[in-house]
Amino acid sequence: MLYPEEFDVIVVGGGHAGTEAALAAARMGCRTLLLTHNIETLGQMSCNPSIGGIGKGHLVKEVDALGGAMALATDEAGIQFRILNSSKGPAVRATRAQADRVLYKAAIRRRLENQPGLMLFQQAVDDLMVEGDRVVGAVTQVGIRFRARTVVLTAGTFLDGRIHVGLDSYAAGRAGDPPAVSLSARLKELRLPQGRLKTGTPPRIDGRSIDFSRCEEQPGDLDPVPVFSFMGQAAMHPRQVPCWITHTNERTHEIIRSGFDRSPMFTGKIEGVGPRYCPSVEDKINRFAGKDSHQIFLEPEGLSTHEFYPNGISTSLPFDIQLALVRSMAGLENAHILRPGYAIEYDYFDPRSLRSSFETQQIKGLFFAGQINGTTGYEEAAAQGLFAGINAALQCRGESPWLPARHEAYLGVLVDDLITKGVTEPYRMFTSRAEFRLQLREDNADMRLTEAGRRMGLIDDARWDAFNRKRDAVSRETERLKSTWVNPRNLPSEDAVRVLGQAIEREYKLADLLRRPGVGYEALMTLASGRHRTELVSRETLGELYAPVVEQVEIGVKYAGYIDRQNDEVERAAFYEGRRLPESLDYMQVSALSIEVRQKLAKHRPETLGQASRISGVTPAAISLLLVHLKKSR
Ligand code: FAD
Repeated sequence: MLYPEEFDVIVVGGGHAGTEAALAAARMGCRTLLLTHNIETLGQMSCNPSIGGIGKGHLVKEVDALGGAMALATDEAGIQFRILNSSKGPAVRATRAQADRVLYKAAIRRRLENQPGLMLFQQAVDDLMVEGDRVVGAVTQVGIRFRARTVVLTAGTFLDGRIHVGLDSYAAGRAGDPPAVSLSARLKELRLPQGRLKTGTPPRIDGRSIDFSRCEEQPGDLDPVPVFSFMGQAAMHPRQVPCWITHTNERTHEIIRSGFDRSPMFTGKIEGVGPRYCPSVEDKINRFAGKDSHQIFLEPEGLSTHEFYPNGISTSLPFDIQLALVRSMAGLENAHILRPGYAIEYDYFDPRSLRSSFETQQIKGLFFAGQINGTTGYEEAAAQGLFAGINAALQCRGESPWLPARHEAYLGVLVDDLITKGVTEPYRMFTSRAEFRLQLREDNADMRLTEAGRRMGLIDDARWDAFNRKRDAVSRETERLKSTWVNPRNLPSEDAVRVLGQAIEREYKLADLLRRPGVGYEALMTLASGRHRTELVSRETLGELYAPVVEQVEIGVKYAGYIDRQNDEVERAAFYEGRRLPESLDYMQVSALSIEVRQKLAKHRPETLGQASRISGVTPAAISLLLVHLKKSR
């Protein structure tokens, strides 16, 4: 049957990409339908219930700065929060939270169910409706046809998914969920370039069978407990609990090696490539044979369950080996496994065949986001989902796509990396992927993106108001520090020594003093009996915004030199990023270029000279030749 209403945006899949895509499109005023296998699994974490970490936390803050759900849901569900790299520079500091998976799912579902303009429907999508070169809707398992102007596909690990435990395997989307086989076949028919990847998960352990006295306690940050969202408060967090640490040992490694002949990875049963940075335990033992121990984190899965996630022993070895290897570790001698570990192989699509808006080059109106683009991780999926949802909505509104640049957002880095370089293994975000990472900090994600989000209709009044108060306070206080002089005559030397480590011999601006190593904003404000304090930046006037404002002011002043230098680099790079390549350009006719470069450019059709320069094999010399060609043909 044809469903009686037509939608602007249909999102297929209710994982991390799909939920952010649907929320974003609906917030932007589009009539949106989220079609997913099972409403009970909306926002389900397929693997570890943990959000953030280095690079990933940056993405979560960006999703949040654009009004997305992930950070606030984590604030409502997080049972342990930590700031990683807290002693390092601000560019690599990152928030990580262990979440209660039940609370997290509830927080996501509540947002979806209460989002005006968004409808949910539970049913597998088996087919896409395509007319000419345009997608016009989706067809479900029982033949319901939903028409829409755009479709965002976020099917995660489900497309032709196959689970492996030892030499046994069966079709599934993840443990307990069906695979998407018909849809996968249909996409193959549409000739979208694709491949196979794999990922894995460890066995889960009943906490009542763990002897925690034999493990090392790893508490979260408690004073203060960090928050994820720019609108978050520690008061939103549920009870905080510790994680625990144990280790593999020689015996564990022997047990693992004894299972190699029944490993689907080593016997060639699994063909898909797995994530190098999140390897299975058998892969670690095989590759780092000289290492006699690996750290294993025992992480609680929630407050209402005894289930623990042993982070570091993802495996697809047979169950008897899994049980023996778990029980060989300190504290786990009597462990009861609740769910076996497994690996899953699935289809992904070569992201080099996407436009920079994530619309497929082959089928207009069809957008891809999340794990199906060859990435791994909830955060990477959420960021892509939000991005694709925004661009599907903009297309429906007849507006140009929103394309954040590499210096504006990790989201820009992620999208650009995927569409220009593609993937050879599941892609995850690292801060090292960003060339302008001093700009792209967690702490300033709102400063970088919230204004754009507001323009597109993603930001509600409460967030906009808080953002403006913060931005104004930061800029006025920074100006004040740059224009307020401290005179040695008015500064008692004991105060100067306490705050600055020594007396000052001449007049200094407050900003100059703040730039000194070891001098913090709050201590500086105590100089001269608070004479330099301002009403604008005080706990009383700013409340929850006080700490973030102080952080921005401090980082902005202390790192001003580095940030200015990086701004110069951004400007230089902008020359290439701003040079658009005509859609009609026939690369095969650009005879100055080598055949190999011509073929690569013709295949991937970069949209700018900057993108072209990042395609593997396209040399700086080729870019110069292309530039000359563009100038000549103008
Ligand atoms: P998913 O979260 O997979 O969601 C896909 C959604 O689409 C589901 O709701 C599904 O029901 C729905 N769906 C699929 N097909 C259809 C259809 N035809 N019709 C209707 N609905 C459909 N990430 C890490 O960072 N580290 C890890 O160690 C890690 N290990 C993993 C281990 C396993 C076993 C799995 C399965 C995943 C692992 N991941 C890991 C990846 C992480 O779970 C994903 O990156 C993330 O969930 C991807 O989000 P997504 O929204 O793209 O897809």
